[in-house]
Amino acid sequence: MTFRHRHLLGIAPLAPPEIVALLDLAQDYADAMRGGRKHWDALHGLTQINMFFENSTRTQASFEIAGKRLGADVMNMAMQASSVSKGETLIDTALTLNAMRPDLLVVRHPASGAVDLLAQKVDCAVLNAGDGRHEHPTQALLDALTIRRKKGRLHRLTVAICGDIAHSRVARSNLHLLGKMENRLRLVGPPTLIPAGAAEWGVEVCHDMESGLRDADVVMMLRLQRERMDGAFVPSEREYYHRYGLDAAKLSGAKADAIVMHPGPMNRGVEIDGTLADDINRSVIQEQVEMGVAVRMAAMDLLTRHLRAG
Ligand code: ASP
Repeated sequence: MTFRHRHLLGIAPLAPPEIVALLDLAQDYADAMRGGRKHWDALHGLTQINMFFENSTRTQASFEIAGKRLGADVMNMAMQASSVSKGETLIDTALTLNAMRPDLLVVRHPASGAVDLLAQKVDCAVLNAGDGRHEHPTQALLDALTIRRKKGRLHRLTVAICGDIAHSRVARSNLHLLGKMENRLRLVGPPTLIPAGAAEWGVEVCHDMESGLRDADVVMMLRLQRERMDGAFVPSEREYYHRYGLDAAKLSGAKADAIVMHPGPMNRGVEIDGTLADDINRSVIQEQVEMGVAVRMAAMDLLTRHLRAG
């Protein structure tokens, strides 16, 4: 299959069959990697540049491994130490890199919309690795693949997305993806952390975990994103944990086979109990990381197929 998109900037522009095709390809990669395979040639001869203007551990490592497994030449730009800190604009940095003729640019930026802007200025495929509170498409895709593997389907599930929705690009991308697949979606959190108007998005909004988790198939916890808060959004971490932190007692209101997810990095004892996060019978957090590599391989493979065909 060829992908009709030049870039992967968000989930919003993707049609359900495109999402399914990408997940199917990722599933093939995941299975082959479980079988021990670590190398393909799909990106052989292509150059991938990772530009992270915001700190990242797992996403950057995941994109780097994904590119290397597909045979790309991968370069990581240390953006904090680069000319950006000397005052160069995002667009100038993009144009400079563009002149080096990369085939794939993987970009994370603290400003919502910055990655779209950059994509308009360069000739190669751009993958959004998270822009502000806007979108984080590969995270939603890896979440979807994990859910599909665990639940056997990606539709007619009750999914509770809990915690700091207001500052979360992960929540936004997941709402797009899981909404397109016709699931029952609930946003659970204190009123201060749920965007105004969320009730009009076709989701249920709950301010307590008991009603929010009732009969849920999937419980997705989000990190309290202090770096994006410009005031006091929660009284104290202790109080927050008491009311919204996921522990075994609160999880008992969800379905008996409900899975627990978290995009990482986790604040143990703030949004999730550490023992529950490590419980391999409930938590799929490690599988999310594993699927992340497969989904990023599939995305980069699809975005560069026209180069191979030509
Ligand atoms: N790693 C995810 C992101 O970059 C979630 C988080 O930071 O809490 O958005």
